[in-house]
Amino acid sequence: MTAPKPLIAGNWKMNGLAAALSEAKAVAAGAAASAARVAICPPSLLVHRMSEALAGTPVLVGGQDCHTDESGAFTGDVSAEMLADAGAKLVILGHSERRSGYRETDALVAGKVKAALRAGLEPIVCVGETLEERKAGQALAIVTRQVRGSLPTELAGKAFAVAYEPVWAIGTGLTPTTPEIEEMHRAIRATLVEMFGEAGRAVPILYGGSVKPSNAAEILHADEVGGALVGGASLKAQDFLGIVNAL
Ligand code: PEP
Repeated sequence: MTAPKPLIAGNWKMNGLAAALSEAKAVAAGAAASAARVAICPPSLLVHRMSEALAGTPVLVGGQDCHTDESGAFTGDVSAEMLADAGAKLVILGHSERRSGYRETDALVAGKVKAALRAGLEPIVCVGETLEERKAGQALAIVTRQVRGSLPTELAGKAFAVAYEPVWAIGTGLTPTTPEIEEMHRAIRATLVEMFGEAGRAVPILYGGSVKPSNAAEILHADEVGGALVGGASLKAQDFLGIVNAL
């Protein structure tokens, strides 16, 4: 089975006005020869404009969340179909900021994954332990439980990625050691193979949490790391390209 191209996705979170599209265009210009698949996930209001701005480039556009339903009385929400209609190809689901801030459970995340598949989007499903859970020696058990609970069987045969993002590494400048990342990614791989058979070996497992140009090469070359989910360092094209071109 040939390994898929690594995926490097930028999560802009709640950052970016229309002027920031120039950063996305600079990423597209600088990522043309990248060995990775590159994606930017802006706030949903920018998905349409960014998709138009990046049309004809290899950089994909993604959402940061979606509702489980296609449409209905859900004030303020955005459906997977709306993201796809606006030009998104991927969607981040189960980010720790949504799990903690909006009490998203594994079951809800799994429902959103099904919605993404219904709309033809490629889900990037986030998992990760808190510092307390790591200190208590529960990191592997918590994360593999999240993987089992957040990935519905409907993913069999579909394109998707898992992003391992230790909560304590997001936006803090802290990262696990490379052996710690490899230990977790191997455990996630074993869980994916348990769930999806041999096809589980081809699922990219991204690392996320304080990835920056200076640590990207080591992280991206670690065993079982199939790319990165990048927050803060994806906002400036120069920083993001330093990661994208570290492969
Ligand atoms: C994230 O929020 O997905 C993330 C990885 O953030 P940062 O790179 O800023 O740690």
